[in-house]
Amino acid sequence: MELPIAFYGNPILRRKGARIDKITPEVSRLIEDMFETMYEASGIGLAAQQVGRALQLTVIDVRDITDRPSRLEIDGQAAHVDSIMPLVLINPEIQPEGNPSTGPEGCLSFPELYADITRPESVQVKAMNARGEPMEFKAGGLLSRAIQHEVDHLNGILFIDRMTAGVKDELRPRIEKLQEETKAALEE
Ligand code: ZN
Repeated sequence: MELPIAFYGNPILRRKGARIDKITPEVSRLIEDMFETMYEASGIGLAAQQVGRALQLTVIDVRDITDRPSRLEIDGQAAHVDSIMPLVLINPEIQPEGNPSTGPEGCLSFPELYADITRPESVQVKAMNARGEPMEFKAGGLLSRAIQHEVDHLNGILFIDRMTAGVKDELRPRIEKLQEETKAALEE
């Protein structure tokens, strides 16, 4: 089932997600619905907060993006990125590392808004998968960027918080308009 996406101005986006202790049928259903919602919106990542649930859960799939490479390492060995797609991260703990890398980002909670964001190039990830099993890997490139963006969501952090002051100033009128529209819609 496709779920409504929470847009900027909805307070759920600022809430830190609660840990998930057990993969209940409700959690499995939510994961399925989040993938459907993400694919329908042509996104490559979606956090639980973006569908109104403050949980440590995000879904990612970078397979459709062919012009921005991703890298994956499992146990120190290069692995095929597709081998862990589609990716479900539950209670993720990440350690960003490497040189700062700047690249364009968008967010399904900010329709039509794109900006260059600087983040560490790679990331070490520990999480639980959709079957409740532990997983550990290192990601680089676009996958690293997507993971860092989504894990930010799980902690109530948004990509506008990572923009340079200059970029954010430029986008401010559109960001504020979206915030007002979202608040007005929530009051109805
Ligand atoms: Zn986002």
